[in-house]
Amino acid sequence: MAIRNIIENGDEILRKKSREVEEINERILELLDDMVETLHKSNGVGLSAVQVGVLKRVVVIDIYDGKGPIKLINPKITKTKGEVELEEGCLSFPNQYAKVKRAEEVTVEALNEKGKKIKITAKELLAQTLQHELDHLEGVLFVDRMIPGTMEYVDPDNNQPVKE
Ligand SMILES: [Zn+2]
Repeated sequence: MAIRNIIENGDEILRKKSREVEEINERILELLDDMVETLHKSNGVGLSAVQVGVLKRVVVIDIYDGKGPIKLINPKITKTKGEVELEEGCLSFPNQYAKVKRAEEVTVEALNEKGKKIKITAKELLAQTLQHELDHLEGVLFVDRMIPGTMEYVDPDNNQPVKE
């Protein structure tokens, strides 16, 4: 396993659409393991392959609920319900947070690392993270969904919002 570099805002790869995974081979399994390690090292809740420079429809999520990381291949949102306004950040936008509108509940279908079809219905943080990471696969970033005027920059040294 290895920590991969997280690509930050400004790199045009973040705007590209990721491709379907056709075969779950050693390279994909290694990518998934590296992504989980990179996610944990960054204290994030979700990471998409494009954020480590790989344009494949691969996502890892860990909301630290004791159930361990979720690894998703070719995920799709198949159902949404309701709407909520939430505070959101992104590992590609260090120290930046904004309010976004998200569905309150989502159902996602995907393959797991064994190639088995899985279906997740989620609310709260897991629903938010699924929507955020699946957006990355389309080249969509949370700032695209930002409620205007809600962006905050947090000083990483004292964790306080910085006034511009
Ligand atoms: Zn992100």
